[in-house]
Amino acid sequence: MKIAIGCDHAGPQLKSLIVKFLEEKGHEIEDVGTHTEDRVDYPDFAHQVSELVAKGSCDWGVLICGSANGVAMSANKHDGVRAAIAWKPELAALAKQHNDANVLCLPARFVSSEEALDMVDAFATASFEGGRHEGRVKKIGWPLAMAGWLCGWAALGMAQDVSLVYPELAAKYAATIQAEQLNQHLSVLASDAYEGRETGTAGADKAAAYIAGYFRSLGIAPYDGETYMQDVPLESVQIQGASMTYGEEAWSLYDDFVLYPGLKEEVLDSLPVVFAGFGIADSLWNDYAELDVEGKVVVVLSGDPRNADRLSYVTNELGPNQWSEGPEAKRIAAAAAGAAGLVVVESQYGMTKGRLKGWIGRKSVRLQREETPNGEGTDLPTFFVPERVGDVLLADTKAKSVAKSRTTAQRKGRVWRGEVKDQRLSFVLDRARRSFVGANVLGYIPGRDSVLSRELVVITAHYDHVGIIDGEIHNGADDDGSGTVTVLELAEAFAMAAAAGEGPRRSVLLMTVVGEEKGLLGSEWYSDHPVFPLSRTVANLNIDMIGRVDEQHSDDERYVYLIGSDKLSTELHQISEAANGKWVDLALDYTYNDPEDPNRFYYRSDHYNFAKHKIPVIFYFSGVHEDYHKPGDDVEKIMFGKTAEIGQLVFHTAWQLLNRNERIRVDVANDFPTKN
Ligand SMILES: [Zn+2]
Repeated sequence: MKIAIGCDHAGPQLKSLIVKFLEEKGHEIEDVGTHTEDRVDYPDFAHQVSELVAKGSCDWGVLICGSANGVAMSANKHDGVRAAIAWKPELAALAKQHNDANVLCLPARFVSSEEALDMVDAFATASFEGGRHEGRVKKIGWPLAMAGWLCGWAALGMAQDVSLVYPELAAKYAATIQAEQLNQHLSVLASDAYEGRETGTAGADKAAAYIAGYFRSLGIAPYDGETYMQDVPLESVQIQGASMTYGEEAWSLYDDFVLYPGLKEEVLDSLPVVFAGFGIADSLWNDYAELDVEGKVVVVLSGDPRNADRLSYVTNELGPNQWSEGPEAKRIAAAAAGAAGLVVVESQYGMTKGRLKGWIGRKSVRLQREETPNGEGTDLPTFFVPERVGDVLLADTKAKSVAKSRTTAQRKGRVWRGEVKDQRLSFVLDRARRSFVGANVLGYIPGRDSVLSRELVVITAHYDHVGIIDGEIHNGADDDGSGTVTVLELAEAFAMAAAAGEGPRRSVLLMTVVGEEKGLLGSEWYSDHPVFPLSRTVANLNIDMIGRVDEQHSDDERYVYLIGSDKLSTELHQISEAANGKWVDLALDYTYNDPEDPNRFYYRSDHYNFAKHKIPVIFYFSGVHEDYHKPGDDVEKIMFGKTAEIGQLVFHTAWQLLNRNERIRVDVANDFPTKN
């Protein structure tokens, strides 16, 4: 058995006797303290033991304080915990036999050591009798499902009723979040001097330095004693050119082929070439049957084979299918067969080239790590060539030409497949890389409760934007200057409360992240390399673009879109709603909280990197507007009154999460699926 044990300053001596006693009986002990007679608060230890029992990490628990009342009251607040006070062995045994107690509470000032050990022994050896006691024990809990004998209104009322803790302090410090100060910060960060804050540029570094300097001025200590920055190793990559040779032929990028830029290999050296028809691996049509493509370059035709009536030989249907629509299924089939590369002979090469050209030439920024995960199923090198090039590839085979292959396929329902003799294909990619370091900026304010402060709420916004494009500075005042300065104001509010000894019980991490515009990179890095354990991260509140109105709300600015609030934790949603109802009263718009919504905003800002680790999130957002990612996203257009109100809502929600006795529970199966 694994047994949790804890006490306040009345119990350390008795506790160590019990620990020794239980260990001698072969039990494993989780001792949460306290270990000295210095004064402490009993709930801090009672909650820890109860958590361990409630979560099933321990089989049962022992709690000790002077009278046993305080620890019992605290423990019994936990769902699934049944804590019993005993002062003689018979009571300890009965608590188990009749009440299925799982925490034994001992009054250190009223029992001798011998009596206490006898009680522990009685409790350890007794077992629940079930039977008529079973139904009674079940009635102890107070979940709504059981309250059937209450009238409906009461049950409904309870579902909505979240008690809000420390309301006066919450109101006092929320009021420090003000439009004027937001304006002051944003007038700096969204000025031309910051050059649009693109990740990897001096402008972004300057913004990071400004934020860190502000944290310092608030009296927030560096999170590790030295710095506010978390280094994020990044790499920018840009394709400069590429060439392909085949026998005597030399082909060049764009004119003769295009490629998927995400490929890992930069060289394919003199590889054999295999023609695999349409590249389909399906039950009615399998181009890979008895074909060895291991380590070779596979050449396939675009589309799927169809008869004269346009019926697909693969599906016997007229409509499109996974093989006829785009190359993804063919890439996966080729990779599964062991191919080293795939060449798709495109019947509409011009269109494919047009679609890929901008993507190939673009500079991309990514996290620097050993393995770059690819979300698209495979990173098999994939090329697209016009039929003219396809004809050269097929010239010395029985397929003869692209047109001939297609005609045979249509008429006869089959196609010649096989290795091309005596020819080899090579490929060289010229890719420029630059390594650099970006930084997440962290303002960590420790909680005032010795135990709960191990847990934290993370509040985020991204300080990077898209920089200078075609000579024009994109200041990103709304995206996400508005969120960044709100985080600064939240930092001030929490820092003031902490300095006055009125700070939250749990810790709060105010983090502005880098690399969001490059693909949520800073938050991805943090969630892969968390400075504070994700297991102790209660929630993430993420703020991205809250300073403008969108078309749907052009006549009333007092609204905010909330995304994610009910996706993992019912309590988070209830707290958010209750805090808004009591203090802020903004219209909460859940339009984008729908997995069916085509905008997929749930996946488009930094909270996603917390949600994918099952940490409850809320994304605060006021929608897109005509200046989104344009040079006109400037500070003059920001509605600071509205921004401050949303900031206050974030504050109140965080305040509740930070101060409640119990951490919010994850109790909902997320209907937004996690991306690969
Ligand atoms: Zn943004």
